[in-house]
Amino acid sequence: MTKVVVTKADAYDEQVVESAMLELLNELGGISEFIKPNDKVLIKPNMLEGVDQELMVTTHPSLVRALIRQVQKVGGIPFVGDSPGVSSTLKAAEKCGILQVCQQEGAELLSFNEKVDVFYPEGTTVKKFSLAKAYSQADKVISLAKMKTHSFMGVTGGVKNLFGLIVGTDKAQFHLRMKKRSHFAGMLVDLAQAVKPILYIVDGIVGMEGNGPRNGTPKKAGVLLGGRNGFAVDLVMSEIMGCRGEVMPVAAQALLLGLSPRIKEIEIVGSGKDIRCEFANPRNLETLDNWLPAPIIDFFQNQLTAKPRIKDQCIACGRCAAHCPPEAIQMVSNKAVIDYKKCIRCYCCQELCPADAVELKNGLLLRLLKKNR
Ligand code: SF4
Ligand code: SF4
Repeated sequence: MTKVVVTKADAYDEQVVESAMLELLNELGGISEFIKPNDKVLIKPNMLEGVDQELMVTTHPSLVRALIRQVQKVGGIPFVGDSPGVSSTLKAAEKCGILQVCQQEGAELLSFNEKVDVFYPEGTTVKKFSLAKAYSQADKVISLAKMKTHSFMGVTGGVKNLFGLIVGTDKAQFHLRMKKRSHFAGMLVDLAQAVKPILYIVDGIVGMEGNGPRNGTPKKAGVLLGGRNGFAVDLVMSEIMGCRGEVMPVAAQALLLGLSPRIKEIEIVGSGKDIRCEFANPRNLETLDNWLPAPIIDFFQNQLTAKPRIKDQCIACGRCAAHCPPEAIQMVSNKAVIDYKKCIRCYCCQELCPADAVELKNGLLLRLLKKNR
């Protein structure tokens, strides 16, 4: 049976985090099961954007510290890296406190600028990725993610976190090539299979609910969870968040391909195994995945998914226009304006807006369907 460990951790105090990390690793056989002396280990936190750690957008630095220490304890050589959605790795890491942790613990912080081709011939959606070169320099990868809601994928945890191995604006190209949610989710499944992290750990001490992954509200779940199978870890994460994980796009694809166990087939162990919460969905976006088949959602994606709308609080920073994959946003008279004929409903604008000025509005068909559900 696939095992996922959930440990109780109700604060980011150094001692609490260290002991939760130790419990988690010990339940999986100990860190030496995963890391051998001189292994180069890439720790991949979620550094979506350089914002204050209290906003819970990024993996908390105390977890990065605890994991670096564990890797070093058995003679491994840890380094840390990510490609944030905006700004440089260095700036993002400095702002969210991960840079300081790396400096204090003697782990190198790597910027993901250069790329290397990684082939995955078994891929059902993507057979070749251009990933950060740091990936090819590592013997092993650990995904150290954040428990959050996600406008496009429903939830983001250990598997979605790996999208940060795609360098900079290449991410937008994937949104353009894979407009359907199931297609994009299939790419994430292939990415996880190509990268093959040895371990997935999710920071659910305080996660994010609502308008995630950038503009939501911190929500305490009081857990740290992890395991070897990222799909299983994310299914348990969804369960803790109060979502039906198996219908989320990534989980659905992984189940279809036989890469994920069903939730009832997962052995959940650890001091936090019974903890369950209710995370609010992204604002105005009540997922239809629970009651409509995926092909129907795919076919009517634009009618059945919420429309992004720019609110008056737009500060005209231009970030959404710069990052919109199909260039559907123009800055007009100091406000972002969306061309809905071009919009592919990827929600990158909502994800990256620093002013929380992009709301998701349900269209008429979606409202009618929900009313008559
Ligand atoms: S909507 Fe947000 S990201 Fe876009 S210009 Fe306005 S403030 Fe900036
Ligand atoms: S307007 Fe927003 S949701 Fe639409 S394509 Fe651009 S970034 Fe994606």
